[in-house]
Amino acid sequence: MLKLENVSKFYYNKGIIASGFTKVNLELKIEEFVAIIGESGSGKSTLLNVISGLDSYEEGEMYINGKETSHYQEKDFENYRRKYIANIFQNFNLINSYTVYQNVELVLLLNGYKKHKVKKKILDIIEQVGLTKFKNTKVSKLSGGQKQRVAIARAMVKDTPIIVADEPTGNLDTESAKEVIEILKKVAKDKLVVVVTHNIEQIEDQATRIIKMHDGRIIQNIEKKKITKEPEIIESKYTNISIINKFRLGIRNTFNIASKFLLLFAVFFFMSAAILTEYASFQMSEEETTDDGYSIAFRDLSENRIIINKKDRTSFTNEDYEKIKQLPNIDYIVEDDIFIDEQIPILRNDMNIYGNMSDIVNFEGNVDFGRMPENEDEIILKINKNHFYITNRLDEVLNKTFSVPKIQGTNAYSNDDTIKDLIIVGIQTYDNSNSYECKFYVSKNVLNELRNNVNKNYSNIKVLLNNKYEQYTVEPNSNVPSGKAIVDDELKYQFKNNRIKNQPLSIYLNNIYYQEELNLSISNTYTKSNFKRTLGLEKYDSNRYKIFINTDDYNSLFNKPSYQSSVYVTDVETIDETITQLGNLGLNPKKVTDFKVSQGEAYLRIIKIIKVIVTIVLIIVLFFISYLIIKIILKSRNIYYATLRMLGATYKNVRRILDIELFINSTLSYIVLLFFIYAIKINIINLEYISKITEFLGPKEYILMYVILIAISGLISRKFAKKLFKNTTINTYNEEV
Ligand code: ADP
Ligand code: MG
Repeated sequence: MLKLENVSKFYYNKGIIASGFTKVNLELKIEEFVAIIGESGSGKSTLLNVISGLDSYEEGEMYINGKETSHYQEKDFENYRRKYIANIFQNFNLINSYTVYQNVELVLLLNGYKKHKVKKKILDIIEQVGLTKFKNTKVSKLSGGQKQRVAIARAMVKDTPIIVADEPTGNLDTESAKEVIEILKKVAKDKLVVVVTHNIEQIEDQATRIIKMHDGRIIQNIEKKKITKEPEIIESKYTNISIINKFRLGIRNTFNIASKFLLLFAVFFFMSAAILTEYASFQMSEEETTDDGYSIAFRDLSENRIIINKKDRTSFTNEDYEKIKQLPNIDYIVEDDIFIDEQIPILRNDMNIYGNMSDIVNFEGNVDFGRMPENEDEIILKINKNHFYITNRLDEVLNKTFSVPKIQGTNAYSNDDTIKDLIIVGIQTYDNSNSYECKFYVSKNVLNELRNNVNKNYSNIKVLLNNKYEQYTVEPNSNVPSGKAIVDDELKYQFKNNRIKNQPLSIYLNNIYYQEELNLSISNTYTKSNFKRTLGLEKYDSNRYKIFINTDDYNSLFNKPSYQSSVYVTDVETIDETITQLGNLGLNPKKVTDFKVSQGEAYLRIIKIIKVIVTIVLIIVLFFISYLIIKIILKSRNIYYATLRMLGATYKNVRRILDIELFINSTLSYIVLLFFIYAIKINIINLEYISKITEFLGPKEYILMYVILIAISGLISRKFAKKLFKNTTINTYNEEV
């Protein structure tokens, strides 16, 4: 069966060569019971490991069943071990977190047997080693003797022609040792059993051959009983582990060590949570608001300008403005300071003029052309006197109607969608070689309308329906009664018994200035057939899932006084005093020059790049920290996976089983995280900041995060398996003890 000719084994360790054993010649047959003795360090274990294909040899020839093996690759030895070898170790190498039954079963699962077909066989063998009472006990709870009997059961169930035992009684008391040897003898009948022992008396009667080793050489080889004719060798039958069994083991491993499960779970949880919040807060900071709630896209950076909002975040009242005007050193107030900074175009045919909107009350001096406005939609245009684009065609400008387009965000205007028509009745010119900016002086009502429009186009709207937030389009419709909403009939399927009528529906609006909530109830639904009748509208197709609410309700969301204004001081020298005084009025005052955006676009771009880099670096650091922690956690599993390998698992098997474990664990932790976020969103858990930043996360981000998580798990299991298989099984064991 086994034949060694001049086989030597060397260890290379940091340039030093040590000899495991030298020039061993040996022939062993089935039905032999071989005892190997010798003092510690004489090479017994090394010999056993080479025989059992757990370790390589460097010199000579080893024949297995007549076949020479010096050209064998790791794969061939794997194959050999599965067909021929069962190992028993001094320190058991069992899976402590598995029960007795599971330990024995593991061999069979790994070698392609079906779970339900092996039950009887396993119970039989457990009976033979006398552990029936303990079959469902975790191995960690057993005594040393019992553990070794489990190891023997595991070797028996594998049903290989060779059993190799390295000091199986080394860690046992005399009584247990005796029992173990008894069982081994029983098992040994039609097999080749090789036992290393330091206590030869125990097996002397039974042994058919006694080999004595000294200093890496065999110095005695006594054959007590000659086997003349070797019986037919029956290889152990195996196939590859089935997918179901991989899952079975993956699931078992996920949960069988509670502390490991929780640790991995926590790491996955916090890694995803940290990456998501980091990403979301980056997205949030991209919005043009500071932590104090200012809009910060300032164009007018005059030294005498102070930006104010209210400490309680409410809108300004006339009373507020009156109080401010009472202060010394106040030149004038611009109530809607967004119009100072927002260049809004007015359009007519092929002409467009960009300028700042300003309240007509701030107009000083006289018009150079035309007259002062008399109606609400009449305005004055203020331009540089060298603005020839306009001065050369005054007759096309003066007393002509221009329209203001819908404002759709910074510098995005729709030419088709106009919100207001204005007539330029007067023009004032100024003389300045540095600035060509235009200004429109308009009535307060026009400013209000424009502000509504700004509010509309800078707002996020979320709809809470059936406890879920969705981003439906909300539109005003005069057919809808006040306090009610009319929604797509399709939405009724979200409700029990399709009962959608009278269900509550809330609209949440937020923009850089304020938040608003509108609580409505559903009065009706629309379908294709009743669409026109219910809402008085023609086109149905594009209206899927739109939510229609009363026009006044709708306008109430946007029809707001100003939330941010600007104060211009007369004397810049004493501006700090004015700031203190404004602060005393319950305001947040800040000099526009303090917003540090004065360097303009380039500066902002650099800030943005830095923010992107910091975010990416943080995410990478998080990733590596998690990776390291997971690696450390997994390292504690080296023995487990080395044992799988010893029992016949291939690189791919190990990877797959680990994949499944990490997949289940990361998926579970991600699901819990999503529930957690959901609970925050619907205010079961009150974490305002998280709730706020999660608004920046959509299904796309959540799915991407999950994909990343699974990819990380896969990567980790790949690296772990690679590293494990770089080492020999025996080295992995040795490193751990
Ligand atoms: P035994 O089992 O008889 O006590 P071993 O087979 O464990 O002896 O060791 C035989 C020799 O090989 C010893 O000199 C030991 O130091 C050496 N040896 C064993 N394992 C290694 C290893 N991994 N690296 C280097 N030397 C080793
Ligand atoms: Mg040894």
